[in-house]
Amino acid sequence: MLAAVIHIAWMYSQQHKLLDWLYNQRKLSPPHGAGSWEPVFHGIYNMLKRRLGRERELAQLMKYFRLGAEALPDAIVVINQDGAILWCNQLAQSLLGLKWPADAGQHLTNLIRTPAFVHYLSKGRFNQPLEIISPVEKDIWLEFRAMPYSQKQLLLVVRDVSQLRKLEKMRKRFVSNVSHELRTPLTVMRGYLEMLDQDEVDPMIWGKARSTMLDQSSRMENLVNQLLTLAKIESASVEDSSDPVDFSAIVHKLKAEVAGLAKDKQLSFKFKIEENILIKGEQEQLRSACGNLLGNAIKYCNEPGEIEVTLSVIPTGVVFAVKDSGPGIARKHLQRLTERFYRVDKARSRDTGGAGLGLSIVKHALQHHDSQLQIKSKQGKGSTFSFIIPKKLLVEARQQAS
Ligand code: ADP
Repeated sequence: MLAAVIHIAWMYSQQHKLLDWLYNQRKLSPPHGAGSWEPVFHGIYNMLKRRLGRERELAQLMKYFRLGAEALPDAIVVINQDGAILWCNQLAQSLLGLKWPADAGQHLTNLIRTPAFVHYLSKGRFNQPLEIISPVEKDIWLEFRAMPYSQKQLLLVVRDVSQLRKLEKMRKRFVSNVSHELRTPLTVMRGYLEMLDQDEVDPMIWGKARSTMLDQSSRMENLVNQLLTLAKIESASVEDSSDPVDFSAIVHKLKAEVAGLAKDKQLSFKFKIEENILIKGEQEQLRSACGNLLGNAIKYCNEPGEIEVTLSVIPTGVVFAVKDSGPGIARKHLQRLTERFYRVDKARSRDTGGAGLGLSIVKHALQHHDSQLQIKSKQGKGSTFSFIIPKKLLVEARQQAS
């Protein structure tokens, strides 16, 4: 009987040790067990060790997942089936204005209330992305892609698509401008051609029709050529070209062509060209840039007028400038002159055959030479269009004025 009591007391003491270890102590290693309790303690110890190992692996995995999600260029938000936020990355905080961990458990539609977004989540049709204006910044467009994942969780990938939208808008505007520019001369030509259907056409009218059609077709040709030049320059690589370009020779060539360009206009020209300026660059692009600036000066200069062209080496590089005594340009237009199809006076530009692409070609050609167009102009006081090719692109210059 006594032995039985002692045995039960011993059993209780072992059991107490076990419970004390499991519930009160923080250490993992088991207490020393006696008799048949020893393997029990060790069995539990091994089980705990295995579970701890698995938890550590899981925590590590979670850490990698979060680090990976942080490294993505997109905002990531994980929500549960009720729309409550389970996790979001840093980018989601700046793009969507979420706060982490403060917003954990909050319903996403309480924080992003845009009706289209609420509708998108509630409908649950996620085969198409959704584009809405950012809840934080009204100039930013965001694209949401929702992917159901795991058990009833939703991964939201959010991307800033403002730039893409801007490009798409520019593309549409470009196509509509080109179509418009081509349609006008085509309409005129069609009108005359329809007139030719009549049996007898007055030779005077036919003479006018012929010259107008020639004008319009050369206008179209000019536009198409400018578009091709622009496309070529825009897509040209900016790698170093092998042979240096003789900048002085380019300007001399323009000087030789000036009489043909100015036709019968009463303009006087002054050229100051420094000789033997060789630079690293693209011959065609530089020719195009200088030719467009000189061409514009001739086109827009009132008669009688003066145009001065300068090419010279200065401490910061090589400067090319075209100064004219023309009508000048109001300040408000200066910023926009290099935009495609931008013209100060559409009617006047059209008369001269301009489509508003010249300065855009200049801008892109100069970008490839680390340079930019400077415009100084005052209404009624003439204009100076110039640019500086930086010193690092200068190969050789022997100072010798011509
Ligand atoms: P365009 O083909 O119409 O000449 P550009 O892009 O070359 O197009 O020029 C854009 C606009 O800038 C022109 O339509 C014209 O209004 C203005 N402009 C350019 N050069 C001059 C200049 N030298 N004097 C006055 N206005 C100019």
